[in-house]
Amino acid sequence: METIRLADGDPAWMFPPGTFTADIAASLATSSRRLRATLPGGRAGLCHEGLEYSLLPDGKCCVSGFAENDLVSFTVELRPPGYYSAETSTWEVDAEISVRCDHNVDCGTHTVECREVTGLTSPDQAVATLAQLIEWLAQRAAEVPAEQWREMDPER
Ligand SMILES: [Zn+2]
Repeated sequence: METIRLADGDPAWMFPPGTFTADIAASLATSSRRLRATLPGGRAGLCHEGLEYSLLPDGKCCVSGFAENDLVSFTVELRPPGYYSAETSTWEVDAEISVRCDHNVDCGTHTVECREVTGLTSPDQAVATLAQLIEWLAQRAAEVPAEQWREMDPER
């Protein structure tokens, strides 16, 4: 998987011809900044900007990103129709709050809270939903001190 800055990517990797408008570009840029700001002082995306394109070797592409520090990770993903299965004809967005595994045998990460929205029929709707889920993450970051997420881990 290749990770590419939003500004350096080709929207045609995931947006059908004619659907990537200036409004969508602006919304993604705002969402990226907003995600980066959810955890001040932490890391944001592999490109350090928040959101980025993730391009698979088979040409499939999604917009994903994260903000994290040593205590908690906030991740989001926006997938176009057909990303996981050719039968999916709608856009999907999910957001997740997770902590690093603290088991003796490391299983990766533990999801503490998540949201998923499926059945989105247009790129405009999908990008607006991504903005809403990032807003949800920002709200949860404001409500819950970073050190408290570990205590809320259901697999703890
Ligand atoms: Zn675990």
